[in-house]
Amino acid sequence: MRGFVLAGGRLIDPVAGIDGPHDLQIRDGRIRAVGRPGALDSVADSTRIALDGCWIMPGLIDVHVHLRDPGFPQKETIASGLRAAVAGGFTAVAAMANTEPVNDCPEISRYMLARAAEVKDGARLVPVGAVSRGLAGREPVNYEAMVLAGARLFSDDGIPVDDTALLTRAFSEVNSLGFAVSLHEEDRSLSGSGAANAGATAIVLGVPGVPAQSEVARVRRDLELALKTGAAAHIAHVSTVGAVQLVRGAKEAGARVTCEVTPHHLALEEAALLRCGTNAKMSPPLRDRETVIALRKAVADGTIDMIATDHAPHDPSSKQMAALGGFFSPDCRPELPLAAPLAAAFCRAANGVIGLETAVGVVLQTLVNSGVVNPMRMVELLAVNPAHLLRLEAATLRVGCAANVTVIDPEARWVVEPQRMVSKSRNTPFAGMELQGRVMMTIVAGEVSFDGRHRSAAQ
Ligand SMILES: [Zn+2]
Repeated sequence: MRGFVLAGGRLIDPVAGIDGPHDLQIRDGRIRAVGRPGALDSVADSTRIALDGCWIMPGLIDVHVHLRDPGFPQKETIASGLRAAVAGGFTAVAAMANTEPVNDCPEISRYMLARAAEVKDGARLVPVGAVSRGLAGREPVNYEAMVLAGARLFSDDGIPVDDTALLTRAFSEVNSLGFAVSLHEEDRSLSGSGAANAGATAIVLGVPGVPAQSEVARVRRDLELALKTGAAAHIAHVSTVGAVQLVRGAKEAGARVTCEVTPHHLALEEAALLRCGTNAKMSPPLRDRETVIALRKAVADGTIDMIATDHAPHDPSSKQMAALGGFFSPDCRPELPLAAPLAAAFCRAANGVIGLETAVGVVLQTLVNSGVVNPMRMVELLAVNPAHLLRLEAATLRVGCAANVTVIDPEARWVVEPQRMVSKSRNTPFAGMELQGRVMMTIVAGEVSFDGRHRSAAQ
């Protein structure tokens, strides 16, 4: 098979300690050579792909996506989700267990992997096993059987694990298998039917709020448990100053804890709900400006280990679009606070936003272009640390490694157009936003799975 040479780009590989101009030869699924610019021009049987001005990095990995398959094909399928992933620069994604049926037994994990294997030009799927049977929070699953079927992380995400005894057992068993538990942190006695951060926006909308304490209380319990058991705990989508402080303290105390933040919690404040309606409604909710600033700081200082999209596709009816009428569209501003039936519809609307195809642009704009982190740190956040959490091979482009590669143009400007997305769903709070930084090419196991070099800026 002919190979190819990625030429003229800036190679950014924190594991190899490289940040500079290098060419890369790929053949038979692996990195065959890394050389100074032009050094690989005479390699035989290789197509040269000019990538001047682009950044070449290890394939991005998302530890938190919802692919809705099995169960909700109108929202997403494994095929559409894995193609959306490569369009967003991700070469592997961890698919959460809250499907229907729930991924709590080897048959479902095997179904997911079999569907994924049929997808041409998609990302690798890593199954996330449930912590409890049916996500009901009562009985543990057979973690060992799940690992043998391919699960590499465990989570009841979408729902917190309320039962401390069950979580203790899960921590211990999953840890002995060498994997981590990812935790959706919410005390539902405090969050109740809350539909926005407990603060100004909830009051303006006239909907109940979710206090920061709902997350903080549960993070406190789980970090104590992680410290006591020595288990690897991963805090999903942190959204509060308190949770970040607790993670920082637990790390100092020696806990084996990691945590993730979403691009939307880094980029948007709660007031986005007034512009985007339920397309900015998620759990945990968007918070206030001080929190956004604190989260960015925690990314910069290393307290937050990785960025995960929490890609959560929903169809318009799940988002109560018809019930809310034309409210929150650019030409129709709702009267606030919402009348009681509209507030009820707002609260009923499903939580979550899609994120795979906007993550790179949002992260570049929010963190890199603004100088919060440098490109090397960005690759740690989006590839190196996620690979470690999922216990995958290291995310690096050293000679001999699997050729999972993401190429981005940090200068490309584009406008987010939901109708052009590869995902089946359109529920994004970034619609209409101009972003700087775009995925140009995604290579999975040596195959070009996405090539965006020739699309127009409008696409
Ligand atoms: Zn969650």
